[in-house]
Amino acid sequence: MIELVSASRCIECNLCVKVCPTNVFDEVPGGVPAIARQEDCQTCYQCEIHCPVDAMYVAPEAEVSVPVNEEALIASGLLGSYRKEIGWGKGRERGSKFDTSYLVRPRFPG
Ligand code: SF4
Ligand code: SF4
Repeated sequence: MIELVSASRCIECNLCVKVCPTNVFDEVPGGVPAIARQEDCQTCYQCEIHCPVDAMYVAPEAEVSVPVNEEALIASGLLGSYRKEIGWGKGRERGSKFDTSYLVRPRFPG
């Protein structure tokens, strides 16, 4: 579930507002997007992977909201880690290059 929009990192591009499939965020003129409908979050990570400055954290807990601390997320390397892992972002190698599922699929047609 979406837990953090970092006010210190956010550049107010509102990409997260646009990509969220369940309209969780509200644009805030002159400010960072507001998590307006957290309970509608589907834990799809679209906002987190689209955020160009790693300002968002979606916790893996999909059913409940959990408290998070931005400094602790940064210190642990979690903030932006999913985006990095899948290879999104300038200069990164796309994670899909390492996807070997194409080797398995022909064995299970249909
Ligand atoms: S995508 Fe990231 S930088 Fe853009 S508005 Fe959302 S939190 Fe801020
Ligand atoms: S994880 Fe998905 S559903 Fe939840 S706020 Fe981000 S984009 Fe919206």
